Amino acid sequence: MAGKYVYDFEEGNKDMKYVLGGKGANLAEMTRMGLPVPHGFTVTCEACNAYRAAGRRFPDGMLDEVDEHLRRLEERMGRRLGEPGDPLLVSVRSGAPFSMPGMMDTVLNVGLNDESVEGLTKQTGSERFAWDSYRRLLQMFGKTVMGVDGDRFEAAIDHAKEAKGVRNDVDLDEADLRRLVDQFKRVIADETGRDFPQDPQEQLKLGVQAVFGSWDNKRAIDYRRKNKIDDSLGTAVNVQAMVFGNKGDDSGTGVAFTRNPANGEPAPYGDYLPNAQGEDVVAGIRNTMQLEEMGEVQPRAWEELQGHLHTLERHYKDMCDIEFTVEQGKLWLLQTRVGKRTAFAEWIMAHDMLDEGLIEVDTAVLRLDANRLEELFKKVIAEGDAEAIASGLNASPGAAVGKAVFTADDAEAWAERGEPVILVRRETTPDDYHGMIRSQGILTSAGGTNSHAAVVARGEGIPAVCGADAIRVDRQGKRFTVGGTTIAEGDWVTIDGFTGKVYQGQLELADSPIERARAGDAEARKEKIWRAYERFMLRADEVRRLRVRANADTPSQSANALERGAEGIGLCRTEHMFLGEERVAAVRTMIFADTAEEEHAAYDTLLPLQRDDFVGIFKAMDGKPVTVRLLDPPLHEFLPNQVDLAVAVALGRERGDAEVRVGGDEALPLQEAEAMLAKVNDLHEANPMLGLRGVRLGIVKPGLYAMQVRAIIEAACRVKAEGGHPVVEIMIPLTATREELAQVREELEPVAERIMREQGQELEVLWGTMVELPRTAVVAGEIAEVAEFFSFGTNDLTQTAFGFSRDDIGKFLGLYEERKLVPANPFVTIDVPGVGRLMRIACEEGRASREHLHLGICGEHGGDPDSVRFCHELGLDYVSCSPFRVPTARLAAGQAALGEASSASK
Ligand code: ADP
Ligand code: MG
Ligand code: MG
Repeated sequence: MAGKYVYDFEEGNKDMKYVLGGKGANLAEMTRMGLPVPHGFTVTCEACNAYRAAGRRFPDGMLDEVDEHLRRLEERMGRRLGEPGDPLLVSVRSGAPFSMPGMMDTVLNVGLNDESVEGLTKQTGSERFAWDSYRRLLQMFGKTVMGVDGDRFEAAIDHAKEAKGVRNDVDLDEADLRRLVDQFKRVIADETGRDFPQDPQEQLKLGVQAVFGSWDNKRAIDYRRKNKIDDSLGTAVNVQAMVFGNKGDDSGTGVAFTRNPANGEPAPYGDYLPNAQGEDVVAGIRNTMQLEEMGEVQPRAWEELQGHLHTLERHYKDMCDIEFTVEQGKLWLLQTRVGKRTAFAEWIMAHDMLDEGLIEVDTAVLRLDANRLEELFKKVIAEGDAEAIASGLNASPGAAVGKAVFTADDAEAWAERGEPVILVRRETTPDDYHGMIRSQGILTSAGGTNSHAAVVARGEGIPAVCGADAIRVDRQGKRFTVGGTTIAEGDWVTIDGFTGKVYQGQLELADSPIERARAGDAEARKEKIWRAYERFMLRADEVRRLRVRANADTPSQSANALERGAEGIGLCRTEHMFLGEERVAAVRTMIFADTAEEEHAAYDTLLPLQRDDFVGIFKAMDGKPVTVRLLDPPLHEFLPNQVDLAVAVALGRERGDAEVRVGGDEALPLQEAEAMLAKVNDLHEANPMLGLRGVRLGIVKPGLYAMQVRAIIEAACRVKAEGGHPVVEIMIPLTATREELAQVREELEPVAERIMREQGQELEVLWGTMVELPRTAVVAGEIAEVAEFFSFGTNDLTQTAFGFSRDDIGKFLGLYEERKLVPANPFVTIDVPGVGRLMRIACEEGRASREHLHLGICGEHGGDPDSVRFCHELGLDYVSCSPFRVPTARLAAGQAALGEASSASK
């Protein structure tokens, strides 16, 4: 239906989230299911986009449609919007296709004004309730629609409570509220130069406008960037008849989850707040009751709620969260969606739901978020006898240690300096988001398990303890006190998001149950999280086509990678084999050598050391392929820093010192230092990244690669002689032409063969190259004639394809992402249209010229789930990533094979 901008809740369903937003689509679905949802209608995301595109003008016909649907709503409710004697009130609620908790605006009680507030009093017989609703409207409307600083309203409320000597909002009576209404109106007029609009239609229109506009507020934009949500989606607006949780003690409002979103336990979980309107729960205004306690005050509504929770979970086949309100004993559902949860809970729930027969195993696997798998490996507090100084709700799991800071800006600034911080607040607001995501942990003194702090922390995988109400936070003074203890800014605090405990000082943290189970701890192996992990990883391994290797340079890294399920080493860098005191001396001799003898003497020193390194790695990886990359970095990396050396020499000369010392190096006779400086100056490059490195070193210093090949082959022969099964792949970095590779192979292969003859061993060695320059990708067909495998070095390939130096773009990449000049950080996720295209060309042309060309990736992208999916689509044979990312890559590869990636649906 062209140009349809408004849908009744009866008209939609849950699959229409791009049209109606998530909230609207699910309100429609619940309406369809016959659940008790107050009537209403939804203005579409498309209307929002049309409004934004037209420079903040409603699209033609939209307002007429709104009128028509409003009339229908009024007929149904038997009341007219804002009608003085008997008003209908509505909420105007934002709701985008993807949930952005608390990021956008909602206005409640629209339709109240100086007259209809009296009508509402008559309608309900409660003057206090009517005036409380009116002051809420002024407050929300003033803040979100008219742009008044919300603190001014809060300050007025605090003042009224102080004057009266009470602590809670509910202790204010009708007279107090009337006074607040007058004050609020003055604040609005004062700050905006305009009066609060008395016309209900005008309120509605401005409310819709404000919700549309909130799509473009800063915190919503920040949130979308962080969560990779498309800016072009827009938000819908839901207009819904109000129900009232603030009508006295038989009313209330709450948030419920069908299961525990923090630990996955299969029982309803949430908060309930008597005599309150919805936003009070999230704002942490008063400390809430646990959901189960609701049974004591509202037994019937609690019974009914449990039934609906069950119905919703069977219907959505997933954990749902729900916003509800009880109005004088009657339960209303105001929102549902498939709820956010911790990674830990996600695995537990998938495991349980599979056992319960609610979902199939592949659905369970696809549902897991590979990007968050690492959270399962989160630390816990090591056993000890530390006494907690306070305790609150276990709002988001993981233990965290940091220095206390008291504002989001401080959290950001301290984190920028590399300091671990715990952000301590009474409560957080969406404006704190930038500091929250830079914190190790979050601690609040107010607010429940669904307060802003808790929701954001769970979403971001940050440990959090909320509602630790014994704590007094002094924001101005930058400290908090609890009992007799004061923690000032910069003091260490430890929080435990699994238990809700808060400790003074820097406690020792320990490994997660998964880490312990993997290390063989029998107790940890009985835990459900370990069983879930084994079960789903097994399935991912069964179905994935990509193999997963690790980037590892030492025997201990290799062992670590194996433990995490690596099937080989895709990148063994040899750089570190040139470091260490003894080796650096030899490397320097090699660099300075005037004669072939001197150079070879240096190789003779290095050879046995490197051979032992390779022996260790081949033994650790027995039977599994090891791709060894010959030396890649420029030689000056093995010499002292040019500036430091020049300064030391200049000082030495001036003082007439016999010896000079640079950094942590041994002291050098001045003369030698001068000679070294001359050499360093000689080797200096303007663009080392594009200079004498990679295969170019092999061409310029042929003895160097020959020594490395000899060390590799001798090591492999030795391991084989001892009964091992080394699988050797030798990789030449930074090749750009077929001839480069052909010539180094011509030089190196005979070396390898000679050693095998000498040692009396046969080895099957593969020779290949990295593809990390655009030219290499483009002439891959030619290069494949002389390469048995390709490994995509996507870090360098991204640098050279974009002409970005990774070390230098930090200064502007943020701006680039903000302005959408790049789709995402190309060093995190493969840039498919550019870098990905080069990869595709290399794969296709490489395989066309050599049918069984073996293909892999060893850049950091190999552990990024989206990039892994792309590698799957390209038909690579394997991905290789850091040992810690191996499980992530295995899961992502399994999900890719199952035909969908979980991150795409989240
Ligand atoms: P958000 O997306 O930030 O959660 P919502 O639109 O869900 O914003 O609304 C904020 C609060 O107001 C919620 O607690 C919700 O339950 C409550 N609320 C919204 N509409 C109504 C209504 N028609 N009657 C009563 N409470 C409502
Ligand atoms: Mg909501
Ligand atoms: Mg490289």
